Amino acid sequence: MSGGAREVLAVRYGNRTTTRAESFLNHHLYGEPDTEIQMDYYFWVVRDGARTTLVDTGFAPAAGDRRRRAWWSTPADALPTVGIDPASVDTIVVTHAHWDHTGNLHQFPQAQIIISQAEYDFWTSPMARRGQFVTHAEADEIAYLQRADVEGRLTLIKGQHTLDGGTELIEVGGHTPGQVIVSVPTATDTVVLASDAVHFYEEVERDRPFAIVADVPAMYRAYDLLAALAAQPGTSLVAGHDPVVRTRFAPHPANADVTDLTAAATKLP
Ligand SMILES: [Zn+2]
Repeated sequence: MSGGAREVLAVRYGNRTTTRAESFLNHHLYGEPDTEIQMDYYFWVVRDGARTTLVDTGFAPAAGDRRRRAWWSTPADALPTVGIDPASVDTIVVTHAHWDHTGNLHQFPQAQIIISQAEYDFWTSPMARRGQFVTHAEADEIAYLQRADVEGRLTLIKGQHTLDGGTELIEVGGHTPGQVIVSVPTATDTVVLASDAVHFYEEVERDRPFAIVADVPAMYRAYDLLAALAAQPGTSLVAGHDPVVRTRFAPHPANADVTDLTAAATKLP
């Protein structure tokens, strides 16, 4: 498969209003006013002709409702709006096991699921049930990953891992113990999906750690790595929850909630 056929999409399926103080770790340290900000919820799609890889699967409708998040689609509903058959999804990368990234896995019962060993080990350990962590995962979704492991549908990776077609998974930790980022080469460009290694561009651009963090030095090191990757020619950085993604890249012609991360010509200057 040539890189020319590859599409990389961000699909916005929900949002919420939050505040800077809730979003940035120890916001009071910076001496700046607290204001409301918008947070978007996305999952990502890498399409290679007839094959589709999902990067995360968003949150489940019931979990979103319980946590009072606005949402309007799930992967199985959103993919056909841009001409992708959900049955073409053969691989799902789970960048980390937070609830807003592991919902809806059951929509793709044939897919292989890839997650870091560190992430899987953490969320299946007693530490994950302590108060600072348990609120960020859904127990039935962690159990789903365990069943997928028993069924031979789970691939556990360490450090760096390259998928067919050259997409690289890089474990960075920080936000969660085994958070991974995903670097996707295309014909003309490289698209780096930070997922929640960077929720908002401001984290990496102003060195502001996010409020939910398992390991602060690892989070800072992830910012350093992502800044270095983004400084390479032809490389785009895609933050995991930032509405600015939808202004830095162009909307998909068929669905305004889908952003085309691929075509360099569509980017704003
Ligand atoms: Zn998230």
